[in-house]
Amino acid sequence: MSKIVLASGNAGKLREFSQLLRDMNTEVIPQSAFNLIEAEETGLTFVENAIIKARHACLQTGLPAIADDSGIEVDALNGEPGIYSARYSGPNATAQKNCDALLNALINTPEAKRTARYQCVIVFMRHAKDPTPIICQADWQGHILAEPKGDGGFGYDPLFWVEQHQCTAAELSPEQKHAISHRGKAIRQFITLFQQQYTP
Ligand code: IMP
Repeated sequence: MSKIVLASGNAGKLREFSQLLRDMNTEVIPQSAFNLIEAEETGLTFVENAIIKARHACLQTGLPAIADDSGIEVDALNGEPGIYSARYSGPNATAQKNCDALLNALINTPEAKRTARYQCVIVFMRHAKDPTPIICQADWQGHILAEPKGDGGFGYDPLFWVEQHQCTAAELSPEQKHAISHRGKAIRQFITLFQQQYTP
């Protein structure tokens, strides 16, 4: 079985990637198993940050690595919080504080102008100097409500209105979310390209 390191400490992401890649005879090991210091996300795009995280994990472990970077872009805020989504409310950010900061920033923005999208980039690098990483990018369009609704999902989901289901992302089942979300779409692209392009 070949081994790949996942450049993330997120248990949900580990479960998802492990299940998908097990069928391809590939074991996904979290970077926490190597006691890595996390990479500093100094890029200005999702792609740069995902590459930084994957390259860092390759360098530290000597294994191929997968990383993902995601966030939410709000049109009325010129794309913010964007790559800063996880830390939008400051150094001790929590999902609740981030949602409050977003509601506050949009306080004078009418409903029609509250369009937004989630973005997800997945990068796979065979080694730290891989000049042609596999890069997958997908988005999910929605808009930001004036108050939170639902308690599933994570992050900005209670504020993210999903037109197709007439509810927020926090009111979808994990399966419903995975079928249409930015991450679900990027993962499906990744599996196709990984099968076509990677031979251990
Ligand atoms: P990352 O783990 O560095 O990629 O940070 C992603 C951040 O973007 C998260 O902490 C959330 O704030 C936000 N985000 C990304 N995807 C989602 C999602 O599916 N639902 C809610 N928030 C998300």
